[in-house]
This record gives sequence, structure tokens and C-alpha cells, in this order.
Amino acid sequence: MQRLSTIAHMRPSPIRRIYEKAVQMDDVVFFSLGEPDFDTPSQIVDAAVDSLRRGETHYTPNAGIPPLREAIAENLRQYDGVAYDSGAEIAVTSGGMEALVLVLLALVEPGDEVILADPSYTNYRDQIAICKGVPVYVPVREENGFQFDPVDLRRAVTDRTRVIMVNTPSNPTGAVASREKLAEIASFAREHDLWVVFDEVYKYLFYGDGPFVNIAALPGMRERTLVLDSCSKTYAMTGWRVGWIAGPAEVVGSIPKIQENICSCVPAFVQRGAICALRSAYGDVLRMNAAYRARRDVIVAGINAIPGLSARTPEGAFYLFVNIRGSGLSSEAFAMRLLEEGRVALAPGSAFGPSGEGYVRISYASSIANLQKGIARIAAFMAGLG
Ligand code: PLP
Repeated sequence: MQRLSTIAHMRPSPIRRIYEKAVQMDDVVFFSLGEPDFDTPSQIVDAAVDSLRRGETHYTPNAGIPPLREAIAENLRQYDGVAYDSGAEIAVTSGGMEALVLVLLALVEPGDEVILADPSYTNYRDQIAICKGVPVYVPVREENGFQFDPVDLRRAVTDRTRVIMVNTPSNPTGAVASREKLAEIASFAREHDLWVVFDEVYKYLFYGDGPFVNIAALPGMRERTLVLDSCSKTYAMTGWRVGWIAGPAEVVGSIPKIQENICSCVPAFVQRGAICALRSAYGDVLRMNAAYRARRDVIVAGINAIPGLSARTPEGAFYLFVNIRGSGLSSEAFAMRLLEEGRVALAPGSAFGPSGEGYVRISYASSIANLQKGIARIAAFMAGLG
């Protein structure tokens, strides 16, 4: 019998299990999927359609078309305060998802350890495994605002540690790392000579007062940070599959070589849509963000008013990480029973790592009417648990 690869041992996420059951049921309130409920702004759609009509239906450079790379560099300079050479330090990818895999393929040797927050984005663990790395979970606790504690980081690091993944605003907790927190992580990365993979796909979904901070903007960090972002969340473009990587040429230079062997390039018309998003959709971003912020306030107040549940106010993204310990149920049992008995679909916290046990994730990218309906159903479900 031949040995199966790492991939053969991957399990489907419990979020999928809940979702697949939910789509077969009637009258379910969906809080499970991490995607905007808005349509892509129309000027972006027009830009892509125009591109197709112009006949832009051919392969593009593996790293993406130059005007998109320039628009990305300008965005990073203006919003993040970090300058990149669009010719050598930026590569366009098929969403943030492919950006993550390409970056990990470029950085990780078999057996290298990669530190990730527990809980964190569900795909990180398997993406690290696909790249033959070893995921090392480090707990981020509610009492610390779901931030890394330097003591835990020092405990986890070994001579095989090569990368630390940093995601702010965070999926699933909605927490945003302050400049001081990022400075702690930066000094840890410098001390142990680690790469930082900085996932900022929610960087515009940030409800704090201060400017958003990219760790690459901190002293000595640009040369050891790979920044990744995408159009998915910011511009309501999840189905377009366009993202990017920015970082030192020594790493980003190898990305097109890998891309050549995976999907060659992102379609030209999709890249034209992304240029329009970056250059002409800021008004739409502000409009959608104002809606998410109002929804956040509704969901935070509604959930915290339910006996047995509590949640800290998230500073970013569109997720509420709800402490369900008062229910006495495991997170999977809670999610499954809430679906069956209360007709609300959400994500069990254990899907995001072992420390996610005791929590569920609500995605509040949903209308206020829907949020209110869901809150009432969750309240009735909790009351029924007695
Ligand atoms: N990173 C995080 C933290 C996410 O939550 C997601 C999507 O949910 C992604 C990356 C990938 O998004 P996409 O591939 O749509 O850009």
C-alpha cells in the first residue's frame, strides 16, 4: 500500500458541515459565511466587461499586469505607509487564498514550523500543511483582547520556527493589533530571525480611531514581511478571485515562477476590475464600512443582552466571537443544535483552532433586519436550554 500524502488526511471544516446542512433547510438565518452581502460596485463590473469587450482574453504576465501592480503599490504607500517597487516587489494572485499558499511555498522548507494564532483563519493550518510546514498554534485569549502574549510566543519558538502569521483585523475574533502589539511581535520576529506573513485582507474594515498599522511599516520589518491582501472583503469581490503579495524582491521574485505552474495568471479582465476597485471605489468602501459598523453595534448589543452569552466589541472585520461557555455546550454541539432547533447557521469556534472551543463566530455581514431576526432566535434557543 502506498503512503498517502498530507493532503489525504485533511478533514472538511465543521463550518462546511453546518453550511451544507443549513442549505438543505428552509428559513435559516445565515451568520456562517465570511463574505460581504453587498454586490460589487457597478463601475468595477463595467471595467471588467469593457476589458472583455476590448478582447483582453489572453494570458497576462505571471506577476500581473503592470497598471494593477502600480495601483497596488500606490495603495500600500498611501494607506499603509510602505513603499514597494511595483516591478519587483508585487505579485498578483488568485485571491488572498492563493497569496497565502504561494508565500508559504516560497518561505517554508519541509518540517519548518509556522506560528499561527489560536484561534485564526481556518485555512491557515491546512495551507501550512500543503506547503509541508508544521503549524504551531499559540493561544490568543479573550482576556488579552485576542492578542499574542509574548510569553506564549517565546514558549512556542524553536530553532525550526521560520514564519509567524499575523492577521489584523482578525478572522475570527475581529480584534485589531495596536501599534504597540505589532511592535512586540516585530521585536520577537527580529530576535528569532523570522519571516512575518501579514494578512491584511480586512484592513479597510477597521472601526478604530487611529490609522491602520501595517507591521512592515515598523523599523526593520519591511525586509522580513510579506504583506497579502485582496479585493474580496474590501470591495465585495469574493467571487472575482484577485489578491496580491507585496514584499522584498528576494521572495516576491520567486512567486511568478510558482504561479506559472499553478494558474499562470489571474484573468486580465479581473485585473482590470481590481484596478478600478483600487482607484475608483473608495466612496463605496466608506458606504459599506458605515453599514458594517452600524451592524456591529446591533449585534454586539443584541448578543450581550442574552443571558449566558457574551462578546467583546470587535474593532474590525465583520465577525463577532461569542463566548458560549454559559450554555454548557461544546461549540460544535451549540452550532448544530442552534441550526436544528433555532434555524440560525454560524461557525463553531473549534473550527479556528483548539482555543476556539467555548466560542462561536457570527459573521454580521448581513442586513440589520436579518441580524435582529437571528438575535431573537438565538435568545429563544438559549432560553430553551434553561
Ligand atoms: N485571510 C483571511 C484572514 C480571510 O478571512 C480570508 C477569507 O475569508 C482570506 C485570507 C482569503 O480571502 P480571499 O481568497 O477571498 O481573498
